[in-house]
Amino acid sequence: MSFDVAAVRHDFPILQRQVHGKPLVYLDSAASAQKPRAVIEAMTRAMEHSYANVHRGLHTLANETTDAYEAARRKVAAFIGAEVGEVVFTKGGTEAINLVAAGLGATLQAGDEIVLSEMEHHANIVPWHFLRERQGVVLKWARVTDDGALDLEHFQSLLGPKTKVVALSHMSNVLGTINPAKALARMAHEAGALVLFDGCQAIVHQAVDVKDIDADFYVFSGHKLYGPTGIGILYGKADRLAALPPYQGGGEMIGQVTQDLITYADPPHRFEAGTPPILEVIGLSAAVDWLSGLDRIAIAEHEHRLYARVREGLSGANWLKVIGDADGKGAILSFTVEGAHAHDVAQILDRYGVAVRAGTHCAEPLMKRFGVTSSARASFALYNTEEEADFFVEALTKTQAFFA
Ligand code: PMP
Repeated sequence: MSFDVAAVRHDFPILQRQVHGKPLVYLDSAASAQKPRAVIEAMTRAMEHSYANVHRGLHTLANETTDAYEAARRKVAAFIGAEVGEVVFTKGGTEAINLVAAGLGATLQAGDEIVLSEMEHHANIVPWHFLRERQGVVLKWARVTDDGALDLEHFQSLLGPKTKVVALSHMSNVLGTINPAKALARMAHEAGALVLFDGCQAIVHQAVDVKDIDADFYVFSGHKLYGPTGIGILYGKADRLAALPPYQGGGEMIGQVTQDLITYADPPHRFEAGTPPILEVIGLSAAVDWLSGLDRIAIAEHEHRLYARVREGLSGANWLKVIGDADGKGAILSFTVEGAHAHDVAQILDRYGVAVRAGTHCAEPLMKRFGVTSSARASFALYNTEEEADFFVEALTKTQAFFA
């Protein structure tokens, strides 16, 4: 298989549009990716042809929808190398981490330790802070080096008999750093801790095999993976999920309910209370199918070429400070422009049709680590082109001139 960016762009209707009279250059895919026609059509088709609530059916549409929903679970399981019963549908990456933190929290005591890193997204910080606030669990923070890598020696030094959970991003949404998940899982397990990876960014840019990594929990969202919003995935090892108490209560997650007692369904349904995001699951399934039809190594190479081209194009820019330069990093460029607020940079770039993100990127501890209050971020996806990379360099250079 090879990778044809023009053909891929054809799959994304939104890429045809203009912004302020200029062709859209969408460099904000790390926040949320655009959707291919396959996803849009799968969701529309379901609504037009085969839609009902799942798991309750004695009628044709309910059965068809249930089949589509459970087929999606099999597809996602195969996509990450999991067993079918190990895949829980949530409403997003954030909810998946909250589910695990709340469940594990029930087993933790004051003084137990959770190891995070300075590069975590708030989604992988705040749920653990709840446990600190509410029950005296201690949070430990693995340092990030100046070039944006996880300091492995420091991480190792934090692990000990009190470490119960290690929760780390597989790929940073700010730095682009890709952490060595397999080695980190081994280190965590040697210390007797469970390990959760926040794979919201990593899974978009590389094939992930949760069994090879040996993750206890692995979390990602649909909307960054070219799927819809409102759907996330929690992978948990079968025995880990079986040991977790339910997160939300309601229909479909129970075994039996009487006035005096309840019993719970087995995972994954135990964690899918109420009507699940049915259409979103169908959309995610289509996204996984669509992505699986492409050469993922060629995609990663393509994204990397774009990133390298931009770095090269900006190599003489002494007004630019790049945050995150770790070896093997993915195609995310976080930066500050001398004398300019990141929000202003993003707003001026928008006038050129270029969409980038600016702010703290839900990673305030990381901003503090690098001594900035915000940064701008250009993130590259499979549908971006070399022309767009060059245009971004040109537009950013012109933007900088406003502040010079
Ligand atoms: N973790 C990382 C690294 C992310 O980039 C994001 C999304 N910005 C999240 C977690 C949150 O995921 P979701 O949007 O699915 O809740």
